[in-house]
Amino acid sequence: MRDRAELVIIGGGVLGLSLAYHLARMGLGDIVVIEQGYLCFGASGRNGGGVRQQWSTEDHIRLARRSVAIYRRLAAETGFNIWFRQGGYLFLSRDAVAAATLERNVKLQNSLGLRTRLLSPAQARRLVDGLDTSGVELCAYNPDDGVLFPWPVVWGLARVATSLGVEINTFCRATAIDVQGGRIVKVVTDRGAVATSRVVNAAGGWSSQVARLAGVELPNRPYRHEILVSEPLKPFLEPMVCDLADGTYFSQTMRGEICGGLSDPLEHSSLNTSSSLRFLSRMSASLLRLLPRLGGVKILRQWAGYYDETPDGNPVLGRTAGVEGFIQLNGFGGHGFMLAPAVGQIMAEWLLRRVREPLVERYGLERFSSGQLQRETLVIG
Ligand SMILES: Cc1cc2nc3c(=O)[nH]c(=O)nc-3n(C[C@H](O)[C@H](O)[C@H](O)COP(=O)(O)OP(=O)(O)OC[C@H]3O[C@@H](n4cnc5c(N)ncnc54)[C@H](O)[C@@H]3O)c2cc1C
Repeated sequence: MRDRAELVIIGGGVLGLSLAYHLARMGLGDIVVIEQGYLCFGASGRNGGGVRQQWSTEDHIRLARRSVAIYRRLAAETGFNIWFRQGGYLFLSRDAVAAATLERNVKLQNSLGLRTRLLSPAQARRLVDGLDTSGVELCAYNPDDGVLFPWPVVWGLARVATSLGVEINTFCRATAIDVQGGRIVKVVTDRGAVATSRVVNAAGGWSSQVARLAGVELPNRPYRHEILVSEPLKPFLEPMVCDLADGTYFSQTMRGEICGGLSDPLEHSSLNTSSSLRFLSRMSASLLRLLPRLGGVKILRQWAGYYDETPDGNPVLGRTAGVEGFIQLNGFGGHGFMLAPAVGQIMAEWLLRRVREPLVERYGLERFSSGQLQRETLVIG
């Protein structure tokens, strides 16, 4: 491992690697990435691959649009097929409040150029054969949302970054961040130390732990989120379906499997990736209610990963007051994969040009003490 680098990124998930990829392509390859496990060990290797542009805030809509544009060309840029399929996202609302939220969101999304439209339950049934819409009030559908296979995204970003000079160290854990006189001087790992003046905390569900290595307290907390996948079926399901009532979401992957999860109000913050029978039975019941034709389908596998949650559902980006050179890139909850390409690009431009970046300022750590929160309401999970 190199003993000195311009920048050290702690966390080899999609956010850390997207930043390394964009920085290296912009000319800064003197980067060391430190990953405690294998690539895809964290949430980036455990998620549902959903990529939607339907959001409730302008920031998220713009970031997701920019990310979709990057995902559309990423396979060509990295040489890895990411299985990106734009079959749309269909949101279901079951009460007047949720329906009004969808109406408001669709207006905002249309004003920003998205093709989202409201659908009646009957129109939604035409889109998803066999969908049970009893109790559904109103739906929102964007044909340009989609799903991808997360692993080749991670591998592709890593391959290009490595080819441009980035050193990625897997099975290497950051154990200390040495801060002297309020400035970062080195990162200590279980395989040696790297001298540097800038460290990026892209540690996902572990971001609070990593921040503490530099004496910094983040409001982020990790929550287990479970997910499952069925045996492969002949393709029949175009969009990702999301039920706002209980947070159930499911899609059909390019390999034919039904892949999905749902929120659990009883989940407490913890670093726990075990699989539960509770999830299996709740998810099976929810799938059966929404799509009774799945009754005979076999579940092949279930697993879990972390949502790195912040109090307002938005990420933590940028500088850390009191520790010069400590940069946050975390807190992406259940939607970091779909925002990673754009956020990585914006953060890379900000780091290289050292100019003001409104997005980075809005999502700075100080907002939690100043109370200037910008709440995202269309969060699943
Ligand atoms: C079940 C599930 C479904 C999801 N579905 C979706 C979806 O459909 N669409 C979507 O956009 N998002 C989804 N998400 C969220 C998405 O996966 C995350 O927001 C995203 O992957 C976060 O990326 P990251 O790079 O911040 O974190 P991670 O991928 O977790 O990467 C952080 C890395 O830091 C490493 N690390 C931590 N501590 C240290 C240390 N001390 N030293 C070295 N390395 C360290 C970890 O090993 C880890 O690999 C889902 C998440 C889960 C769990």
